[in-house]
Amino acid sequence: MTEHIMKLRNREPFFWANPNSSDAASAPGFTLNDMLDAEARLARFAPLLAQLFDEAAELFGIIESRLLDVPRLAEQLLPGAKILLKADHDLPVAGSVKARGGIYNVLCFAESLCLKHGLLQPGDNYRKMASPDIRKLFAKYTVSVGSTGNLGLSIGTIASALGFRARVHMSADAREWKKKLLRSRGVEVLEYEGDYSSAVEQGRKEAQADPYAYFVDDENSPELFLGYSSAAFRLRDQLRLRGIVPNAQHPLFVYLPCGVGGAPGGICFGLKTLFGPGVRCFFAEPVESPCMTLGLISGKHDAVSVYDIGLTNRTSADGLAVGRPSAFVGKIIQNMVDGCFTVKDESLDLFRKIARETENLKIESSAAAGFAGPGLVLNSDFCRTHQLDPENIVHILWTTGGRYLPE
Ligand SMILES: *Cc1c(COP(=O)(O)O)cnc(C)c1O
Repeated sequence: MTEHIMKLRNREPFFWANPNSSDAASAPGFTLNDMLDAEARLARFAPLLAQLFDEAAELFGIIESRLLDVPRLAEQLLPGAKILLKADHDLPVAGSVKARGGIYNVLCFAESLCLKHGLLQPGDNYRKMASPDIRKLFAKYTVSVGSTGNLGLSIGTIASALGFRARVHMSADAREWKKKLLRSRGVEVLEYEGDYSSAVEQGRKEAQADPYAYFVDDENSPELFLGYSSAAFRLRDQLRLRGIVPNAQHPLFVYLPCGVGGAPGGICFGLKTLFGPGVRCFFAEPVESPCMTLGLISGKHDAVSVYDIGLTNRTSADGLAVGRPSAFVGKIIQNMVDGCFTVKDESLDLFRKIARETENLKIESSAAAGFAGPGLVLNSDFCRTHQLDPENIVHILWTTGGRYLPE
């Protein structure tokens, strides 16, 4: 057993630098063109989204979060460091990082249905999709998903708003308030005793039997992955407004909470594609659910689970409570991600408290996982190995959920 697996077993928070990451890495099967295609599709849908959701109207139907200065938080985490916060915890409509991927995935399905039935022509304004004849078509279909909460919120909300029947299969980790919010948005919520993987399995099985069912497969969806990647274009524009131009000697260090891997994987792919060696991406996981870390270190991806090494997959970070990673994502990013680290639940509680007290940010447990990153990475020999001056690094904490958290 390697030293790293030992640390995972012992629930010892640690940073693992990925020996397989390479500046020259490309993502098998995905290119910049795919990202541009996704961004163009989101732009086509923007007028419709602005019409469907008041919250999306503020940015004219583009669902995006702010990039924040957090000087008081930075002072607590790593005094003297330049730390920014990408506020996906406040993403409109879905309230989490799942907004970009999940909504995009359902939009792809809606568009393909309309094209197939000759109800949409290239160049049409997509507001047309709110018309009675198209809604009648959508009503024949069920969109479903398996989730620990936030993906369900994202998929269920957009599917129901477009007129689909929406069914969300929730794992035991899912919070009561997320189920309630979804039901209030017209979504059927099914509850299971089992974990995330088993909720996905139930949903997948149910959908297979129904020709009018579309299952959003969190473990295998290229559409989800590309939807997440669109964050890179938005971050690029936000950095440009601040005069930040990342390059190999002045890189961004980005800290991404990781569950099954789709959201951090898609964002990592997008950022690496745009910035090359100007960005370093690190995935954050709870000590009880380090599925992606385990999959990458062992090279076994979804052939190994956290249960296999004696962990419980029980964590207050419900969005990250995943025991087995996506092999689809793991294989795409295995040469891109620069490292992974693990965090204890107690630290998440502390980080949430600090975020609240210093910057008045309301984030959920999962969203705080990245906060351990700057300290862990800078205390390792990562900078020395890559000949980087810590002074030149811009750290970005990616907060991934919390907008609808009850008080
Ligand atoms: C889902 C989720 C993540 C991680 O995304 P994955 O695609 O599961 O890796 C991180 N934070 C929050 C709040 C989430 O809901």
